[in-house]
Amino acid sequence: MTFEEIKNDEQQYMMHAYGRFPVALVSGKGAVAKDVDGKEYIDFTSGIGVNSLGYADDGYVKAVSAQAAAIQHISNLYYSPVQIAAAKKLCELTGFDKVFFGNSGAEANECAIKIARKYSYEKYGGKRQKILTLVNSFHGRTVTTLAATGQDVFHNYFFPFTEGFNYVQANHIADFDAHLTDEVCAVFIELIQGEGGVMPLDKEFVEHIAAVCKEKDILFMIDEVQTGMGRTGSVYCYMDYGIAPDVITSAKGLGGGLPIGACLCSRKLADVITSGTHGTTFGGNPVACAAANEVLARVTTPQFLAEVKEKGAYIRAKLAEMPNVKEIRGMGLMIGIVTEKDNAKEIAAQCVENGLLILTAKTLLRLLPPLNITYEEIDRGLAVLRKVMEG
Ligand SMILES: *Cc1c(COP(=O)(O)O)cnc(C)c1O
Repeated sequence: MTFEEIKNDEQQYMMHAYGRFPVALVSGKGAVAKDVDGKEYIDFTSGIGVNSLGYADDGYVKAVSAQAAAIQHISNLYYSPVQIAAAKKLCELTGFDKVFFGNSGAEANECAIKIARKYSYEKYGGKRQKILTLVNSFHGRTVTTLAATGQDVFHNYFFPFTEGFNYVQANHIADFDAHLTDEVCAVFIELIQGEGGVMPLDKEFVEHIAAVCKEKDILFMIDEVQTGMGRTGSVYCYMDYGIAPDVITSAKGLGGGLPIGACLCSRKLADVITSGTHGTTFGGNPVACAAANEVLARVTTPQFLAEVKEKGAYIRAKLAEMPNVKEIRGMGLMIGIVTEKDNAKEIAAQCVENGLLILTAKTLLRLLPPLNITYEEIDRGLAVLRKVMEG
């Protein structure tokens, strides 16, 4: 099939949910993807922070293939050793007490929201059900996670939205305190707002929330769907902030390219979810869990995480010397670039033409390369970006 044929079929048969770059990707190795015509692209996206180990990583392919060949799915009515191993590893790495597996970031967040409301309902009754999230946040596309998302553009068409979310200005302690009523049961935030434009939160703001939540038995929940699994150079970003949240959610990079999401909770919340109060058909699927186990084993070693930080610093230093770069934000291999000319969308399109896959977030360029990208691949990608930025 030619690219034009693929594009025409997409137009004819698929709902128009996505604006796509004019590229059909069919294979890859490491941080290099190939399109249907055989053209190569350096990948600074990892499929929006998903392919933690790049394309067709040998160990990953082996782990996933072996599990697919052994048993591809059982229902959650039976014990799955590979699923339980993933939960155990997550708890050992973080100190959290229990895990629930779903299939996506939004589902992991739904679980967190349900835990917060049930915990508070059972302990304090039905009047304490509000959840504070941040202005400019992003928490997913289900009706409830859209409601949790603090951006008006997401609050259209699909009325009525789930009630009970209030939005606080990020890094604004007084605004947080002003929203803190007796009805609040949880605070749910990203530590670096990803889709919102790679905006890291101030440490003082986060520490203030942590202290208030602890004092008032309000659950402090962190959406680590984008920041987690080594992306910032720590197992989870909350570790960089030195806080101890009650709940975190994880997805994107966790399965290295297969759909899996996880909600982790502390001991105090271990018994909130009971038989019949939450569930999913596919969640914790053995193949997805085998993928997650491979990612968990590889990206969480101190050596690997140190390399993520080093590569991030290397990219940042190179970016700082490039024309059209106004500001660089983020942590580890989660990098946002504000351009002088405010032309991120055009830059991204030109990069694709020149063989570099790159993301945008709001008005920024955004890099989320595979965590095991090599320096050679980084240099190849940055050379394309420099050429395009020189315009
Ligand atoms: C991507 C993302 C989500 C949604 O994840 P899906 O897998 O698309 O449902 C939620 N929160 C954050 C912070 C994200 O970056």
